[in-house]
Amino acid sequence: MLSFIYEPLPSRVIFGVGCLDQLPEQAERLKVSRAIVLSTPEQAETARAIMARLGQCAVGVYTNAVMHVPADIAKAAIARVRELSADCTVAAGGGSTTGLAKAIALETGLPIIAIPTSYAGSEMTPIWGLTEAGVKKTGRDMRVLPRTVLYDPSLTVSMPPMLSATSGINSIAHCVEALYAKDANPIISLLAEEGIRAMAASLPRVVTEPRDLTARSQALYGAWLGGVALGAVGMALHHKLCHTLGGTFNLPHAETHTVVLPHACAYNAEAAPEAMAKIARTLNGESAAAALYDLAASLGAPVSLQALGMKETDIEKAADLAVQNPYYNPRPVDRTGIRDLLRNAFDGRRP
Ligand code: NAD
Repeated sequence: MLSFIYEPLPSRVIFGVGCLDQLPEQAERLKVSRAIVLSTPEQAETARAIMARLGQCAVGVYTNAVMHVPADIAKAAIARVRELSADCTVAAGGGSTTGLAKAIALETGLPIIAIPTSYAGSEMTPIWGLTEAGVKKTGRDMRVLPRTVLYDPSLTVSMPPMLSATSGINSIAHCVEALYAKDANPIISLLAEEGIRAMAASLPRVVTEPRDLTARSQALYGAWLGGVALGAVGMALHHKLCHTLGGTFNLPHAETHTVVLPHACAYNAEAAPEAMAKIARTLNGESAAAALYDLAASLGAPVSLQALGMKETDIEKAADLAVQNPYYNPRPVDRTGIRDLLRNAFDGRRP
């Protein structure tokens, strides 16, 4: 029998090729007039172009965003925000840049306009992360949920094909875990299924023809759905493992998601049969785990933790860490099972 709680998050989403043109009016709508544009060093040029579009409404840029929001970078950005008396941040980039805007919002309450250029999905969530002394803390706070999100697929054509593939599978991971979440609900499950479909259907074309705007639109649409799913319901084993592997062994975010996802699905297969059937059906595969592995392999994405630079001797430590704090997962988390999962992911074995 159905029983659920559904609470949509308040944000304004504008989607479509060329929608970046609407940025000045969206800033006006939020009644802000002193925006600071954020980016990584690699996307500094994009940040400056966006600042130029904002004209009088922008007061500066901060282009030092890096992966996992180191606390000292957040501190320096907050100092810059105060120095410029900024009243809004415009995050132009992937999850790392959105993450920096969130760290600023957490401290200052400044509203965020997000302009996502990857498929990470952070722009749709109230989840923040901050890394200090090698430990990443995360939390939920409505102050960090971007108020306005402009999804312009033309900004994603410059995303390198391999980042597109792994970032796309990162987004699929949000949808997969939403389908077996403890607090799953029918609306989020519908859009999670659609997110997997849109992303899996578009990624092959995105990788071979990165400038194809039709494929890029489909993929960004899938990423939006993945972000909504991530923001709406709790995640489980897969996200916990990726968080541990990324934080402790400094493995790259999207690539780690890509490698671990098929193995997390294999681990949970019997405990979440309905979710697995939906995923397998959506991907047209024999099982959810095998289909996700085949998708990654067909895109030329990494399929083993070894290929990401993890050391074999770290498998035991990772297994210890993954079972340390109890958390929800459809199948109870046991050390032997997790160790086997990590071994298979390390070797890149097809589940
Ligand atoms: P990223 O933001 O670190 O981007 C990777 C690199 O690609 C960067 O150099 C970036 O500048 C570049 N890039 C991004 N888009 C580009 C484009 N269109 N063209 C050219 N270069 C581009 O990586 P990511 O995978 O987007 O985000 C990962 C981070 O986001 C992690 O720290 C992760 O924990 C976080 N995250 C947080 C949430 C959340 O809800 N809080 C959700 C998902 C991810």
